[in-house]
Amino acid sequence: MLLKNCKILKNGKFKKVDILIKDDKIEKISENIDIADENTIDVKNKFVTAGFIDAHVHWREPGFSKKETVYTASRAAARGGFTTVMTMPNLNPVPDSIETLNKQLELIKKDSVIRAIPYGAITKEEYGRELSDMEAIASDVFAFTDDGRGVQNANVMYEAMLMGAKLNKAIVAHCEDNSLIRGGAMHEGKRSVELGIKGIPSICESTQIARDILLAEAANCHYHVCHISAKESVRAVREGKQNGIKVTCEVTPHHLLSCDEDIKEDNGMWKMNPPLRSREDRNALIVGILDGTIDIIATDHAPHTMEEKIRGIEKSSFGIVGSETAFAQLYTKFVKTDIFSLELLVKLMSENVAKIFDLPYGKLEENSFADIVVIDLEKEMTINPKEFLSKGRNTPYANEKISGISVLTISNGKIAYIDEEEINL
Ligand SMILES: [Zn+2]
Repeated sequence: MLLKNCKILKNGKFKKVDILIKDDKIEKISENIDIADENTIDVKNKFVTAGFIDAHVHWREPGFSKKETVYTASRAAARGGFTTVMTMPNLNPVPDSIETLNKQLELIKKDSVIRAIPYGAITKEEYGRELSDMEAIASDVFAFTDDGRGVQNANVMYEAMLMGAKLNKAIVAHCEDNSLIRGGAMHEGKRSVELGIKGIPSICESTQIARDILLAEAANCHYHVCHISAKESVRAVREGKQNGIKVTCEVTPHHLLSCDEDIKEDNGMWKMNPPLRSREDRNALIVGILDGTIDIIATDHAPHTMEEKIRGIEKSSFGIVGSETAFAQLYTKFVKTDIFSLELLVKLMSENVAKIFDLPYGKLEENSFADIVVIDLEKEMTINPKEFLSKGRNTPYANEKISGISVLTISNGKIAYIDEEEINL
């Protein structure tokens, strides 16, 4: 396959190149490649970058195909420019042994159009008591996490980290101290009082992160914090890094885009875990990105049925979808307004993910994997959940105007998504 007239970013500057793909690798990147290739695609000077890597998605299969399937989720991710994703283990069965993990791997092999690498659970069935078969499944999983809930017992977490260090796998944590949820359903603050909804305080997240950073230091393990949301959490990670502890973290697009003040009414579409916090917290997340405390952006794509999201904030399920709109929303809100450079945004969504987890992806270079996304930076769209490829339509961002739309995604040398109105084969 030959991609003609690609606009790539090199050392902060745009450059026009052609890209030749052979099998699953990029064979050549050069100003003008003049060979006859029957699969030649003229991308007409659109922006081309390494395919995005999403370290946090809920693909829901096996177990919850009413919400999402591997088939629909992988197509949604490809549409959003993702070529590699890491799938969370809160499934049925939970991938905590070779047998249960194989069920998921088979589905991925059969139905996914992009590369999907499962997380293994830290504990059996994510119950937080007994470690999963970590050693047995290590070679087939990306890392270990009990995402969806926090690991409550410090010794269980410590044992997991010691094993993670031994297996050279990261321990990835959804941080939530159950004793501090206090019956809450949104961030505890002025807005929760105004709406009359019980709040989850920031300490519910931050104290567990502080505990875990100290455990990671003792275990000498790579510890990665999922969906960081509170300013105190950012501070704890920053201090951990300053002290040479192997801690990294991710933030979701929605925690960067919105804060609790944006929740105008009691609408379950705004319910996510961790909750959208205060304006100050949101600003601390942006500062955390700019000073390098926050390493990557991950969507936490969490599809649910409509029925599960229309019961108001207290009774709806936690989570929103994100695969199809993440890049465009962030491009519109942060790059077009000059808060982030385009180079920084694509790094946070690809290169940095590969770097912190030591993966061979996220590079647009000769001999690297042919994971590529072509984006029309000028193209505008209005978010319409009815048109999503994901089964999940649960987003509070319907009708928002976005630009920077992906039109072609190539994963492992194969076309995973194509907008045929924009790209002619
Ligand atoms: Zn989570």
